[in-house]
Amino acid sequence: MQRRVPRKSREIPRRKVYKALNTVLAFVSSRKHLATTFPMVRSSVEGLLKRPLELAQVAELKALLPDLINFAYIARDQLRIQAETLSQVQCGGRTSPDFSLNSLQQSSSQLPGIEEDEHVLVLEFADNTRGKKQRTGSLLSLPPAMSAAQSKKLIENRDERFRTAVNELLSATPDGEDPVELLKVAAKDHIPANPKARSHLPKAEAEVPSPNERPSVNEVVQEIQEQHWYANQITDRRTFPARTAREGFLSRSLSASIQQALQESRKITSFYTHQAAAINAVCNKKHVIVSTSTASGKSVIYQVPFLRFLEEDPSATAMFVYPTKALAQDQRVALEQLLWSCPGLRHINVATYDGDTPQERRAAIRDGTSVIFTNFDTIHASILPHEELWRNFLHNLKILAVDELHYYSDLMGSHVAQVIRRFRRVCAAVGNREVVFVSCSATITKPAQHMQRLFGVEVEEITDDGAPSGCKDYLVWEPPYVDGHAPKLGRHSAMSEAAKLMRYLMKRGIRVILFCKIRKACELAMKALRTELSAEGRLDILAKVMPYRGGYSQEDRRRIEHEAFSGNLLGIVATNALELGIDIGVLDAVIMLGFPFGLASFRQQAGRAGRRARDSMAVLVADMSPLDQHYVKYPDALYNNPIEDLVIHLESKEIVEAHLQCAAHELPVSKDDTVFFGPLLSEICDKKLIKDEDGWYHTHPKYLPYPQKHVAIRGAEEDKYVVVDITKVQESGQGTKILEELELSRALFEVYEGGVFMHQGLTFIVKEVSHDARMAKVIRADVNWITSPRDFTDVDAKQTYRIKEIPNSPHRLFFGRVEIITVVYGFYKIRNKCILDVVDVDTPPWERQGTGLWLDVPQNILGLLRSKAISPAAAIHSACHAWMNSFALAADLRTECKAAEKEMKAAESRRKRPARLIFYESLGNSGVTAQALDHASEILKKAQCTVESCPCQEGCANCVLSPACREHNTISSKIGALVVLRGLLNLEIDVDSIPTQVNEFDVADTIVEADFVRPISGVEVEAA
Ligand SMILES: [Zn+2]
Ligand SMILES: [Zn+2]
Repeated sequence: MQRRVPRKSREIPRRKVYKALNTVLAFVSSRKHLATTFPMVRSSVEGLLKRPLELAQVAELKALLPDLINFAYIARDQLRIQAETLSQVQCGGRTSPDFSLNSLQQSSSQLPGIEEDEHVLVLEFADNTRGKKQRTGSLLSLPPAMSAAQSKKLIENRDERFRTAVNELLSATPDGEDPVELLKVAAKDHIPANPKARSHLPKAEAEVPSPNERPSVNEVVQEIQEQHWYANQITDRRTFPARTAREGFLSRSLSASIQQALQESRKITSFYTHQAAAINAVCNKKHVIVSTSTASGKSVIYQVPFLRFLEEDPSATAMFVYPTKALAQDQRVALEQLLWSCPGLRHINVATYDGDTPQERRAAIRDGTSVIFTNFDTIHASILPHEELWRNFLHNLKILAVDELHYYSDLMGSHVAQVIRRFRRVCAAVGNREVVFVSCSATITKPAQHMQRLFGVEVEEITDDGAPSGCKDYLVWEPPYVDGHAPKLGRHSAMSEAAKLMRYLMKRGIRVILFCKIRKACELAMKALRTELSAEGRLDILAKVMPYRGGYSQEDRRRIEHEAFSGNLLGIVATNALELGIDIGVLDAVIMLGFPFGLASFRQQAGRAGRRARDSMAVLVADMSPLDQHYVKYPDALYNNPIEDLVIHLESKEIVEAHLQCAAHELPVSKDDTVFFGPLLSEICDKKLIKDEDGWYHTHPKYLPYPQKHVAIRGAEEDKYVVVDITKVQESGQGTKILEELELSRALFEVYEGGVFMHQGLTFIVKEVSHDARMAKVIRADVNWITSPRDFTDVDAKQTYRIKEIPNSPHRLFFGRVEIITVVYGFYKIRNKCILDVVDVDTPPWERQGTGLWLDVPQNILGLLRSKAISPAAAIHSACHAWMNSFALAADLRTECKAAEKEMKAAESRRKRPARLIFYESLGNSGVTAQALDHASEILKKAQCTVESCPCQEGCANCVLSPACREHNTISSKIGALVVLRGLLNLEIDVDSIPTQVNEFDVADTIVEADFVRPISGVEVEAA
């Protein structure tokens, strides 16, 4: 069909304008890493065109090619810092640059922190910084240093894009309409407005709907699909229908005053089935675990029975235990309100008793309160060691309630299990064998089993959730190609997509929480939101977004929680620090930036949105990591796969001994205490404790006077660095401000001289780091680049303590001392994933000792891998992940992850690594590695079976990928892992069935044969 294209006088200039723009921008951007300002581009373009260039003309082009052209205001500050970077790059800045920031702005680091009042209009192509796939791995690209030929090619490509877009417009224009007119209309939306000017405009059309009047989730999902920026990002959508409430009944009705209190303080007049069942059980003195959805009203399950116990016996006491201080605070206030509304119980005192409780208040709390809110750290380190001061309280104790029980697993859970055993023993000793244990948890598999292992008692399990829930939508969101016509340019980043989606939802009155996996991502997302919302002039929305993560001061965290809870926020950007149930009010949407650490986390985070009758949504924005890509391909796994079991280890001699040393200090231990501590007690007592004439066991003197100080239930405490903001000192001689405290293991990667440190979405430059004083001084500076450390961690076996056979295999397992060395040797300056500069730093290496377990990959297997062009590094890395995925306690182990930056280089590495699968405990020695050695052969076998039978192609979270991989699983080979695992097990390998790999790049081999590690004297090979 022939369409009559109206020929109008302005059409020719439009193509000409584009051509001129194209030429000018290609010229400028191939030489500088500068964003190009409109005035600067305009004069060059006008020079070529010999006529004026209007804003509207550029807006038309933007309307035609919205993804390709950037045309928006940015803060002037950002531009200036870039110019500085430029000068460093140009003068070959490979050494540490001068950090005296002459561009420093008068600014504060207070939230919400909108200091930029001057903006410049930037015009550039979005495909500017993307080169072809490079060797730095998939995450970063080097700056495009383009040859004339490449420049020409780029210009041609963009011309081609223009022609395609024009043709698309023509064919999409309905008959009878003028495409030029359509374009003009569309262009109106693309004329950039200066944020400063815009923020003064009346905001009638931009009003954010109040949360009660917001559109439904379904409407919003429809709307999103009609947006010009929507390019089929939603690859999977499931809708789970609303559920109505089901009422349960108490076997014995509540007193009138408790009924009144519930109604007044909580508006509760009836109970859901799970609440009623739990209250009935607790009142019958049964131990109970309730595992139901978020916000299903779990706290009444222990509060109501306790009020009853108080009515029967005014001297009754209770302990309510939470994993964090913040949760304990939250819940204390709730109970105070309930008691205050309850006639007859108003005088009851409750108090928080934890590490922050002042010494002088402690006696009064012990003697004068009926309920304490505490944590296991305090029970372990402060309450049990002073059991004589707590006798009265413990004698009258009716309930020990432990909320968020799923929090206690792995190493900490294994310690807590022993703390609870000590607690039960002390209660029994003061004559109280009737304490009822009540637990609540998120939805987990086998809740009763988990609680039984933690508490050592029989429990009743309640999982029939009677709470109502609104309709819930789950979306999987895949970032679209930067340019749909040129997939080679890659996809938009998950970060920018998540931020864009979040902005859209907030504008529609949807309250959003954005979960990030690591602190840095949280800061970057906040920075992106800050930049984009201010560029759009939406300071009203920006004022209602806050970041929240570990590392912030208590004060900042409480303030943010309070803001969220009061309903003042539209958005929160958080790490999984907010996964736990701190009440932050009603949220409508959860966005997960990348698949979180495991399915349990995925479901818990998704559960943070939606409440009662409100509909809600949960969106997984997938990044390019193999793990996320797996869930894009197989979304069913998100909903159908079982959650990982929670692990409690009761058979660790190291952990049991640690707590027996503590227990013996509380009350001498006898062999009768096996009822509490299990069958290991007898052997440990005889070997490790001191027996007196009467047969009682006492703490070994080397642990005295405070054995509990030798036992860290959350793992070893690390040294901390303080990060100090000295901006004000430099500017006006005012005082410094402590921004945060960072653990040593983080500080190394986050504060290095010249690097960008981020705090609450604001950027600071690190001016000085003192490793002796454990202090970093930073200065506030708005920069639009970030830095990323270049580092490596080598794990080297140093001495062999034990050697063990692998059944039917000539190969061996080794156990011994390992040395772990982390070196940060430099950093990249990065903007838009593009490296602006490479800087060296001189940081002292971080060395530590630990215990480890290793298996050496034999020479013939290495030879086989090489003959098939399989990277030995990838094979070993994947085999390590597979082994850890098959070991229940792996959360407390680390391995040496292989980095793309090193493994994808063509040049020979000077840092060749031994062909070795190695696992170690990163901090301290909890005995997990020793457990691993005991079961290492079974784990190896299980890993091999899993990889072999896994239906995936390239590897998935079930077999060779790990959500905890420090290097994002980019160096991975499923087939290689299988060869290594089979080789170690001495299983036959059908060489012909292994396809020879085709590699995109020529890469150097980084692996050498492992040396034998000297054993201590007297080591004999143990039978399998
Ligand atoms: Zn798999
Ligand atoms: Zn890894």
